[in-house]
Amino acid sequence: MDVRNGMGLRPLGTSAAEFEQDLLSNLYYRRGTTVESASTQDAYETLALTVRDRLAERRVRTAAAHYAANPRWVYYLSAEYLLGKQLEQNMLYSGTDRIARVAMKQLGLDPDEVEGLDIEPGLGNGGLGRLAACLLDAMATLDIPAVGYGIRYDLGIFKQAFKDGAQVEKPDDWTYQGNPWEFPAPDDQQTVFFYGHTERDENGRTQWIPGEIVLGEPSHMLVPGHGTDTVNIVRLWRARGSESSFDLSRFSAGQYAEAVDEAVHAENISKVLYPDDSTELGRELRLKQQYFLVSCSLRDIIRRFRLRNTDWAEFPKKTVIQLNDTHPTLAIPELMRLLVDEEGLGWDLAWALTKQTFAYTCHTLLPEALETWPVHMFERLLPRHLEIVYEINERFLAEVRDRFPGDVDRLRRMSIIQEEPERRVRMANLAVVGTQAVNGVAELHSQLLAETTLRDFADLWPTKFHNVTNGISPRRFIKLANPTLSSLITEGLGSDAWINDLDQLTGLERLTGDAAFREKWRAVKRANKVRLGLGDPDSLTDVMIKRFHEYKRQQLNLLHIITLYQRIKASPGRAYAPRTVLFAGKAAPAYHAAKHIIRLINAVAAVIDADPAVSPYLKVVFPPNYNVTLGSLIIPAADLSEQISLAGKEASGTGNMKLALNGALTIGTLDGANIEIRDRVGADNFFLFGLDTPAALELRHGGAYQPRAFYEQDEELRSALDAILDGKFLGVGREVAESLLGRDEYLTLADYRSYIDCQEQVEKAWADTEQWTTSSILNTARSGFFSADRTVRDYAAGIWHVSPVQVTR
Ligand SMILES: *Cc1c(COP(=O)(O)O)cnc(C)c1O
Repeated sequence: MDVRNGMGLRPLGTSAAEFEQDLLSNLYYRRGTTVESASTQDAYETLALTVRDRLAERRVRTAAAHYAANPRWVYYLSAEYLLGKQLEQNMLYSGTDRIARVAMKQLGLDPDEVEGLDIEPGLGNGGLGRLAACLLDAMATLDIPAVGYGIRYDLGIFKQAFKDGAQVEKPDDWTYQGNPWEFPAPDDQQTVFFYGHTERDENGRTQWIPGEIVLGEPSHMLVPGHGTDTVNIVRLWRARGSESSFDLSRFSAGQYAEAVDEAVHAENISKVLYPDDSTELGRELRLKQQYFLVSCSLRDIIRRFRLRNTDWAEFPKKTVIQLNDTHPTLAIPELMRLLVDEEGLGWDLAWALTKQTFAYTCHTLLPEALETWPVHMFERLLPRHLEIVYEINERFLAEVRDRFPGDVDRLRRMSIIQEEPERRVRMANLAVVGTQAVNGVAELHSQLLAETTLRDFADLWPTKFHNVTNGISPRRFIKLANPTLSSLITEGLGSDAWINDLDQLTGLERLTGDAAFREKWRAVKRANKVRLGLGDPDSLTDVMIKRFHEYKRQQLNLLHIITLYQRIKASPGRAYAPRTVLFAGKAAPAYHAAKHIIRLINAVAAVIDADPAVSPYLKVVFPPNYNVTLGSLIIPAADLSEQISLAGKEASGTGNMKLALNGALTIGTLDGANIEIRDRVGADNFFLFGLDTPAALELRHGGAYQPRAFYEQDEELRSALDAILDGKFLGVGREVAESLLGRDEYLTLADYRSYIDCQEQVEKAWADTEQWTTSSILNTARSGFFSADRTVRDYAAGIWHVSPVQVTR
């Protein structure tokens, strides 16, 4: 089909009256009802469709412009996307936010009630998935031709609830009521093979004879740019059984379950997002998901390439595929398979094209988070890919042998196949070998990658390694999340151009001397606390919002809370500055240590609440089910941002950027992007504590670290841990204290005193409202660097080598 067919459409109206007409028309023709009999769900879907229509028109023009330009495309492969709610965003980006509300009121609809039905697609766990969403937003805003590929999980990240303070997980059936944002594209369905064996045909070509065939059905959601006509897409694959997977004869014989067995088995592939963001569950289904994503996406990428190109030599000139962590790394052997087995290219040419096409973003330093798969599982599921991986590895190791003759140890470390204690495929090694660029996600992280985790590879190919510091969408995390602060900034700067050019925020620096502006700044922060509705809006709002993980050290924050509690108990009646400590975040369901920390936080919160000597000064709140929506409510209300991971463990963090941009001051370690935040906002406007990376490594070195020594030397620390061990907090959480006194993997006790002292500095600073206000404004003013627009420009210039394509009317 010619994508240009859609050109020349009549633009949809931009007035409230026209929008109202379109609402009525959509209600009638697409929902089959009228305003008088419409349910709220009818009204919501109609609103969504009416907004979507405005973007669909831009989408058609974008596709036409891209087709005409035949540009180099960015294909972003990610197993996760945390897109956030779509309605509010799409109203802003289509310029219909105001007229839509006017039109709804005209029709007697309550805009808040209708908009309240929009739900968040939770197709990711945390930072990695949210980064993918922010990069898509920035690529569209910068007019870069791009497609995001992912999996349309039936069940997104679980919903978190608390029962007696403990986390319980509920399924998130996010499309239960349908999803008006989605465009199904059954025409572009793909066939995916699994299992089976390989054979050589008469020409010596290898053929994969599959043991299972599954269909991948795509649908896409629109990814509009802000302040431009570009609308890109994110294409999500859903697994389907093939037609023959339904067994009619069994069904007729009354064997209903058996009749759909095969189909159910196939559909399980896209059933559920693995709720684990750092360690592998080692389940075959997860490997199947990864190959499913890769196989469908590559075929789609090639289909798109062929719309305008014929020569394989052009493929890397028209295509760059960015791998968001190792989850989509199977794309490397898969492209080799397609080129060599199906297209008949020679190995060397195929390998050159493949390597030029891919780039890899590494997201971790934790060795346990580096993905590997047992060879036997890999071989059973993907027999041909294992042969290809062996071949890649053999040729690669020959290259290493040439460069470092006799260095057997190095060969063993660099091999894509780990031999001991079990034969496994190392996905990070495969990703480094099969790509033209590898990047870390913050300065420190990229440096540590090259010096430690991937050091051997950096020795071999020093120019392959890059840094691209993460960023966040200013549209999502200030304009939409914090409309009142955004208005104040626009008023202060005299224009709203800063939203797409975040460096302009430096213009706020001169307003730190403007008493009226400062007063408004504080009023906005206070109003955001009132809107959040958790705790006293005049208290210091101290927030720690992120996944629960021991390396992130929520337990350190908790020890500070217990210490404050004990200080207040010991000297009641002193004038303590009220503080509200807010936690939000989920723990992986099988991560017991993290769940114990959650339970203990809730117990401490309850004990403090019940104690009238303490509760006027200290409150702990823990709203359940942290997601983009909840974060967008919390971030604008924060005074203090807790970024307290053990140095050398957090790759970048992006929550730290969102909070600084919204005028929170950070208390943090020299970890991830905290370092770059501090460099930019200034050491005076950042509360630094704790060991740095070399000191942390040194302390751990040789197993010499003894957490008990810290416990014994520090009276306040001892008393906090003893209180937990003595069951003072509803008798829960002993496991937390025992773990800290046992191994204390993340040096919590070593950083305790430094953290507590630093929190005292925070208190002092908070008491000086004027100084705090200045620091808050400066945090916002100097956070422009952390725009995802800058991140995408860095990728475009340093790794992708792509240029924008303008979409015209
Ligand atoms: C930004 C974000 C994260 C990442 O937070 P970190 O503090 O960087 O770990 C996780 N989850 C959600 C919902 C987010 O919006």
